[in-house]
Amino acid sequence: MKNFLTSLFYFFLGLNLYGQSSTNIAKTIRVNYHFMLKGNGTGNFNEVTDGDGRIYSGYDWARNQVLQMNQQSDQNIQMKIPLGNTLPVLDKNYNYVLDAVYFWRDDNTYYYYQADNAYTLYGQDKGSVMNVLIAETTGSTVVGGAANNVSIAIPVSGLLNKYIKMQNEWDAYLDQWNNLGYFSGWAQSLTTSHEFGHLLGLNHTVLYGSGAPCPVGCPLANYPNVQGSINYSCGDNITDTPTAWDITSSNNCTEHPGIFNAATNGLYFSNNLMDYSNNLCLSPNQIQYIHSGLELGNRAFTSCNAVANDLSLCDVGYPKVSYFGKNILVGNCGTQSDITNREKIDIYYSQSVELNNIEIRADSQLEIIFEPVCSF
Ligand SMILES: [Zn+2]
Repeated sequence: MKNFLTSLFYFFLGLNLYGQSSTNIAKTIRVNYHFMLKGNGTGNFNEVTDGDGRIYSGYDWARNQVLQMNQQSDQNIQMKIPLGNTLPVLDKNYNYVLDAVYFWRDDNTYYYYQADNAYTLYGQDKGSVMNVLIAETTGSTVVGGAANNVSIAIPVSGLLNKYIKMQNEWDAYLDQWNNLGYFSGWAQSLTTSHEFGHLLGLNHTVLYGSGAPCPVGCPLANYPNVQGSINYSCGDNITDTPTAWDITSSNNCTEHPGIFNAATNGLYFSNNLMDYSNNLCLSPNQIQYIHSGLELGNRAFTSCNAVANDLSLCDVGYPKVSYFGKNILVGNCGTQSDITNREKIDIYYSQSVELNNIEIRADSQLEIIFEPVCSF
């Protein structure tokens, strides 16, 4: 009987974790940003300015990117391919919260190719906050990135090191000011949203992990190099997103869904967040997979998980932006805690907050937000 009950337990556990995760429960992911500066403090956003004379700090830029990623997460659109499909357009129901912003002055970690080393040296709250490294590449203003560790499994031991390295965000920002006279950032934020899609467990739907189009076994007028033999395993293994072969066979090998074809105005071009379309569609099963992950190995990165333990602090303020705890006690340490110099601090609590000996200046703000512990 015990074995039977144990089996039953694991049956339901498995069903719950892999089949029916609660996509209806909103989940928030903690993220921090690292600006990689040159040793002399130039070459990126800093604590006060954009590194080019404007009073627009790395804090401001990171806040804007997280805000835009949340706007992108709050939207979904009909999947374009296969043409005429009637897949439902579901709420993604996941968001991000900015945990902290760091600035590192080190010539050995400034460039994108040095970013893995930067994470090893400077990564913060590994295993509970997803780290974003903002680095540069010489001679390019094209924003791109890579995600480290896309597994959603619960780690058997050790930490789940989840981080993204992004290149040329700063260059793209300056490029927009110089050429347009303003900064939007939407497309760059979408690229980061895409990289987070990887960290949350998703792969490209019609491309290899590296971004090369999946071979489809037929010559393509617009991209002859992807002829190859058909590779059915290239893609995302998500059942409701079509493969490159599904699409090319449906259009008689005239257009690959991973390559924009100007002749058809991209009729068969994937609009999935997880391809290179700079668009934001996610299918129901992709959303399901993200939520499954957030209930498994990625659970440790959710804000509702972070408000399960008590927290006691002497001082609050930058570089931390958000604090999380069950019963939170601030300022019982003798020295006064100051929130000043344009600091904007958020405290998320699930049970109580006690503030002592704290001063908040007019140019700054403190927000205290109730957040219940995870219900999944
Ligand atoms: Zn990608």
